[in-house]
Amino acid sequence: MKLQDSLKKQIATLPVYETGKPIEYVAREFGLDPDGILKMASNENPLGPSPKAVEAVQKHLGGLNYYPDGGCYELKQELAKVRNVKPSQLVVGNGSNEILEFIPQCFVEEGDNAVFGAQSFIVYKLATIFAGGECRSVAMPNLRYDLDAMLDAVDEKTKIVFMANPNNPTGCVVPQDEVSNFVRALPDHVIFCYDEAYTEFQEQEVDLLPLINEGRNVICLRTFSKIYGLAGLRIGYSYSSEELAGYINRVREPFNVNTLAQVGAIAALDDAEFVNESRRSNRAGMKQLSEGLEELGLEHFSEGANFVMAKVPDAAGTFVSLQKKGIIVRPNVGYGLPDWLRITIGKPEQNQRLLDELKKLFR
Ligand SMILES: *Cc1c(COP(=O)(O)O)cnc(C)c1O
Repeated sequence: MKLQDSLKKQIATLPVYETGKPIEYVAREFGLDPDGILKMASNENPLGPSPKAVEAVQKHLGGLNYYPDGGCYELKQELAKVRNVKPSQLVVGNGSNEILEFIPQCFVEEGDNAVFGAQSFIVYKLATIFAGGECRSVAMPNLRYDLDAMLDAVDEKTKIVFMANPNNPTGCVVPQDEVSNFVRALPDHVIFCYDEAYTEFQEQEVDLLPLINEGRNVICLRTFSKIYGLAGLRIGYSYSSEELAGYINRVREPFNVNTLAQVGAIAALDDAEFVNESRRSNRAGMKQLSEGLEELGLEHFSEGANFVMAKVPDAAGTFVSLQKKGIIVRPNVGYGLPDWLRITIGKPEQNQRLLDELKKLFR
C-alpha cells in the first residue's frame, strides 16, 4: 500500500499557508545583504519588540532547564485583570493561530461546516479542513464583509463563524453595532470566533465581552505578535465563557506555551508606553503610505490595521521587482486578490523607501 493512500483525505487536499518571505530567503535568492532588506510582509511591528518584554526574556534565560508553567498561572492573572474576565475564561496558545486550530478540533466533525469571508485570514479555512469540516467562504465585495450573506450561509450544520476585525488581508473594519447585531442574529448552536489580532490599532476597540457575559457562544482571540512586537515568541490567547475555554484547554498539549513567551507577554502587557508609541507610529505611517499611494495614482485600501492594501499593475512582477530592491511585501494570489499587494506599515523612512521604489516602477 502506498503511504499516500493511508493519508487522511483532508490532509491530502489541504491548501498551503504561504507565510511572508523571510529576509534570509530573499537575501539568498537575490544575492543581497540581509541587513539592508526591509520586510513589510507579515504585519510585524517595525519598532521591534516591547523593550520590557526583551528585558524579562533575558532575565529568564537561565531557567530554561525547567519546563514552563503549563497552566500559565501568572500570565492568566494579568490577562484576567486586563480583560476583566476570570482566569478560567482564558486559553493561552502558541500564537493565537494555535487556538484557531483548537476550536474546529473541538467542535467540527465531518458534515459540519464553518462560515467565513473569502478574503479573510486563511487559517480559518485550513483549521476547518484539517478538522474534517466543510468551508463556506462568503464573497467579500469591495474587500468588505457581506454580513447578510454570511448569515445566509449559516445552517444547522454550521459550528463556527470566523471573523477578523480589522480583517486580514483586506483591512476592512466592522463597527461595534454591526458586529453585535450580527452575533445576536446567529443561531444558538453557532460559535462566533472573533479574531482581534489588530484590535489594538483601533481608536475605538469593538468590545464583545458584554455578549460573552450575556451567555453567547463568542470567543475572542488576541495576539502578542502585532502591537506588542513579539511574533517570534509565539503567544496569543482567547477569552470566552468558562465552559468554552475548558473544552479548548482539553485539546492543547500540556506545555504549549514556552517560558520565555509567558514572561515576555507579562512584561509586554505592562508596556503601555511601547503600545502607545506603536499605535501612534502606525497611524502616522498609514497616512504617509495612503497619501503616497494616492499621489502615484494607485488604488489603495486601509481602515484600521497595521498594513495597507495597494492595487498595482502586474502585482506578481512588482512583488519580484521590489525584492530585487530589498523590499518584501505580500502578494495575495492565494486570497483570490492577484492584483493587490499587502504592505505592512513601517517607520517613516521605511515607508518612504517603499514609495520611492514604487515611484520608479510606476512613473
Ligand atoms: C497575525 C494574525 C494572527 C496572530 O497570529 P499569531 O499566531 O498570534 O502570531 C491571528 N489572526 C490574524 C487575522 C492575524 O493576522
